Amino acid sequence: MSVTARMCARCATITERPVLIAAVHQGSGPGADIYACADCAPAFPPAPDVLDLFSGRRGEGEAR
Ligand SMILES: [Zn+2]
Repeated sequence: MSVTARMCARCATITERPVLIAAVHQGSGPGADIYACADCAPAFPPAPDVLDLFSGRRGEGEAR
């Protein structure tokens, strides 16, 4: 029943009551879970465009 504090992806606030917005599963390596605080959760789009990560420019723009 332990709640892990997560950082809000929107306001970067550490919240002890994170709301899971999206779970990004990569082909290799650990995925990234996107959390938001209770205040920011409603501001996130209902359906995150995960596919956009693949259809968009990849490789270019990643490294900087
Ligand atoms: Zn927030």
